[in-house]
Amino acid sequence: VSALALDNIGLLVTNDPALGAGPLGIVRDAALVFDGDRVAAVERAGAAADERIDVRDRCVIPGFVDSHTHLVFAGDRAEEFAARMAGAPYAPGGIWNTVTSTREAGDADLRGLTEARRREALRAGITHLEIKSGYALDVPGEARLCALAAEVTEDATFLGAHLVPREYEGRPDDYVALVSGEMLAACAPHVRWIDAFCERGAFDADQARAVLEAGRAAGLGLRIHANQLGLGPGVQVGVELGAASADHCTYLSEGDVEAFAGSETVATLLPATDFSTRQPYPDARRLLDAGATIALATNCNPGSSNTTSTSFCIALAVRELGMTAEEALEAATSGGARALRRPDLGRLTPGARADAVVLAAPSYTHLVYRPGVPLIAATARAGRLEWRDPELWPPG
Ligand SMILES: [Zn+2]
Repeated sequence: VSALALDNIGLLVTNDPALGAGPLGIVRDAALVFDGDRVAAVERAGAAADERIDVRDRCVIPGFVDSHTHLVFAGDRAEEFAARMAGAPYAPGGIWNTVTSTREAGDADLRGLTEARRREALRAGITHLEIKSGYALDVPGEARLCALAAEVTEDATFLGAHLVPREYEGRPDDYVALVSGEMLAACAPHVRWIDAFCERGAFDADQARAVLEAGRAAGLGLRIHANQLGLGPGVQVGVELGAASADHCTYLSEGDVEAFAGSETVATLLPATDFSTRQPYPDARRLLDAGATIALATNCNPGSSNTTSTSFCIALAVRELGMTAEEALEAATSGGARALRRPDLGRLTPGARADAVVLAAPSYTHLVYRPGVPLIAATARAGRLEWRDPELWPPG
């Protein structure tokens, strides 16, 4: 295996305080050496390697780890978005529109749509994605979506408990039994995780608990959609069951914050969703001050957050959630990796997967300071440069 070095890095974020300054482990005038698909070393600029790429004093950060997406879907909900911007409220029932289009789409079309979104995410600096099912809500359809997600990521998630489908209207407990039984059995072989949407209008605490406990018995890790539209039991259910992550957290009680602080459950914040649904933003400062771990993710989906821009999420986190640029960057990289329990991701340290982003900027602060401007010059995934911006690369 030959070594590739990103050389003359002005500012390298390793996310390992043992390797550099501050919590981000910052090294200046650095070289980042890859060996195959792994990081081999962090060295001084001018390191020896078979192949050297001079990044000309730019900033290099770990690839973004997007720990919450719903990328496998068909159809578009721009009209619903426009109506919401004109004053209509957000309601989980809109998911049904995507279920209808996704059920109708053929395998090749869905695979093509998913791959196009994966490429879009790579251009945005995302080197690892979690992908949920949840837009079929019947046994063969959910199994199909889980299999398609698993073609793109090792972190596929079964989300049969996304919404009670029309076929089960008025019989939610029958649907919960289906999700926890036959549907789980069909989906579990494809996925690492199970998730449930615990919210008024979706599933209550007992229903979410039943689904997640069945998933755990089938060997899956747990995640939960919690506290998006109001205060509720979701965070407490997630923490009590030892979920890797409870996601949204737009509304948190004191008890919810304390529960996160005393647990291994990551609080995953999805500010692009609060933006796109005209909701208030979560108070990240309160979580950080209590000692909770935060991840930032896009929640890319057609209804409530149709974006793959982690940079946008970072800008919102700093402007609206009370995070510093350092905290937001950490949450979008190592925080996402912790939410997926992936110690091999979200850091640029020897042995980690060689996932890095070269910014067309001297510092990560520019992700916030230059909002909306494309700054992802190149994205390396598993040691290979998989995306180069034609205008921003090679570094001039
Ligand atoms: Zn979601």
